[in-house]
Amino acid sequence: MEFRLDRPRTNQYPTEAILDELRRVAAVFENRRFTRHEFDAESKYCKGSVVLARFGSWQAALDATGLELAAPVKKDRSFISNEELFLELGRVWRLIGHRPSKDEWDHSEPRYSYTTYKTRFGGWVNACAAFIEHTSESANPLAVGVVSTQLPPISKSTVTPIDASEKRGIPMKLRYQVLMRDCFKCVSCGRSPVTHVGVVLHIDHITPFSKGGKTVRENLRSLCQDCNWGKGGDHEPQPNLALNKGAPTSGAI
Ligand SMILES: [Zn+2]
Repeated sequence: MEFRLDRPRTNQYPTEAILDELRRVAAVFENRRFTRHEFDAESKYCKGSVVLARFGSWQAALDATGLELAAPVKKDRSFISNEELFLELGRVWRLIGHRPSKDEWDHSEPRYSYTTYKTRFGGWVNACAAFIEHTSESANPLAVGVVSTQLPPISKSTVTPIDASEKRGIPMKLRYQVLMRDCFKCVSCGRSPVTHVGVVLHIDHITPFSKGGKTVRENLRSLCQDCNWGKGGDHEPQPNLALNKGAPTSGAI
């Protein structure tokens, strides 16, 4: 018995047919330059290796088509929207159940590199803070639970900029630092949005702002909504944050 490989030999592909296929694939890519691997993914006629063997280099093959091909879409990080980055960060965050470290990120087969986030946001923690901010600005401003369960659709119209002059308000970075210090758990009951669906974490002034409590890390803690709203008379009543967007005393994030 003779074993045969029923694949046409490289020299069985007519040059003109290869060029036609290159032109067809170029049209698929809207006449921009494309790589050999992109060709492999699109071509129904022959492999990129056949093209290379025929023309000596990929550039020579593209030149031979006579097409004026536009520059390839740069794999520039600016082409990735923040929303895409946040979606992926949310996916990995939920996957591992807490804020991913660099190693955890790298081992989660992320779509975007750690460096992409660092570059875009000026550091990994900043990226995570921006993500939290972004998520809490989304459909439900109260729900950090959303971070851990499902990400809501992003609607720019719901974004409410935080008035930096509000000293009573808690800056997003500070909120994030408090959440991180408290391991994203309610310090009272220990529940976390990661482990308990529907749990919403608030950042609470331990000594109420109205009684001279400062908006500093030492005077802030993570409380779930139940513990926060159900707490005793030592604390000022918690207004509905939705009605108090400008100056949340203990805003959920
Ligand atoms: Zn609680």
